[in-house]
Amino acid sequence: MPVLQLPLEECLGLVLAADVIAPLALPPFDNSAMDGYAVRAADLNRDETSRLVVTDDIPAGRTELNPLAPGTAQRIMTGAPIPPGADAVVQVEWTDGGTETVTINRPVEPGQNIRIGGDDVRKGDAVLAAGTVLRPSTLGLASALGLPELPVRRRPRVLVLSTGSELVEPGRPLELGQIYESNGMMLASSVRDAGCVAVQLRFVPDDVEAFHQALKPYLGAVDVIVTSGGVSAGAYEVVKDAFEDHDVQFTKVAMQPGGPQGSGRYEGVPVLSLPGNPVSAQVSFEVFVRPALMASMGHAQTERRSARARITSALTSPAGKTQFRRGLHDPSSGEVVTPVGGPGSHLLSALALSNCLIEVPEDVTELPAGAEVTVRYLQ
Ligand code: AMP
Ligand code: MG
Repeated sequence: MPVLQLPLEECLGLVLAADVIAPLALPPFDNSAMDGYAVRAADLNRDETSRLVVTDDIPAGRTELNPLAPGTAQRIMTGAPIPPGADAVVQVEWTDGGTETVTINRPVEPGQNIRIGGDDVRKGDAVLAAGTVLRPSTLGLASALGLPELPVRRRPRVLVLSTGSELVEPGRPLELGQIYESNGMMLASSVRDAGCVAVQLRFVPDDVEAFHQALKPYLGAVDVIVTSGGVSAGAYEVVKDAFEDHDVQFTKVAMQPGGPQGSGRYEGVPVLSLPGNPVSAQVSFEVFVRPALMASMGHAQTERRSARARITSALTSPAGKTQFRRGLHDPSSGEVVTPVGGPGSHLLSALALSNCLIEVPEDVTELPAGAEVTVRYLQ
């Protein structure tokens, strides 16, 4: 994705595209760490109370200061600049809180309760490195440095296209043979969860001409097209039929679920075509689409976290295919993972109840309970 300057409000979760050099120090000036009194430490008695005339009042935000005359104090608030001549702040709790004169019960050391300018960041420091994922704290730092925008790779706009003449919009009545559309909802949410912008096109019928027509308005407006359905071996495979004479290749991947896959370009726009069964579509998104989207935004970490865990029940898996079973992994109750539901790629509720994929390698056909597996988190 191209690099551009974006307002900080739009940068959460994006990747910084260039080092940030501090244009000023933080704190920008010496300031008080406490509500209290700015003094010269040497003016305070060591073993008894001291009494000083209070000559000024310095709230936070004051921009002009009077020098501190010897033997006097200035009332000062947290974050307010230290007046010239003062070298310490006595916290209000150690005083009688007076506004004309103040009685101070304990002496302070020079420098006490003063936050030195540049203590946190020095002007010219490389405070944030290119590649940093922008989090609330890094955005707070950028704002503290006075930066209204940051250079980032922008979010890809992803067209999530659902095909199938059987698909009906939730909220409408359902006739025999029809189902409610769910892949679009799931994939568009996954796109957003990855930090990208999702545009949904949900009810494209299994008709090649209608398919081309439906795509037209989006071609200049999206960065990538993700389709679901219409790519397997049956008749009426609209995605395959529509894309095949363009620059999109269809193949079978040695995995279950998610065997039939397509990828390429349609009218110059990158395309990833996923199978239609809901679990296949979602697993394909996790395995192929999400890492690609993360890479496009400049993330170094494109894969989800994974862990090793022991399965609580036996599993079987087809020879020659990597199997992704759905699982529930609770790291707090020992490193165990419970398979949820069977291998069927229509078992959406089992997917909804799981929080990870259990990866069974290609050459493994049986795993007894207690066997160690790799789990990939879905969150
Ligand atoms: P297909 O690959 O188009 O033959 O679809 C395989 C299975 O997934 C069929 O049972 C479809 O009804 C179902 N399916 C395809 N697309 C969707 C969708 N967007 N929402 C829910 N189910 C779908
Ligand atoms: Mg279909």
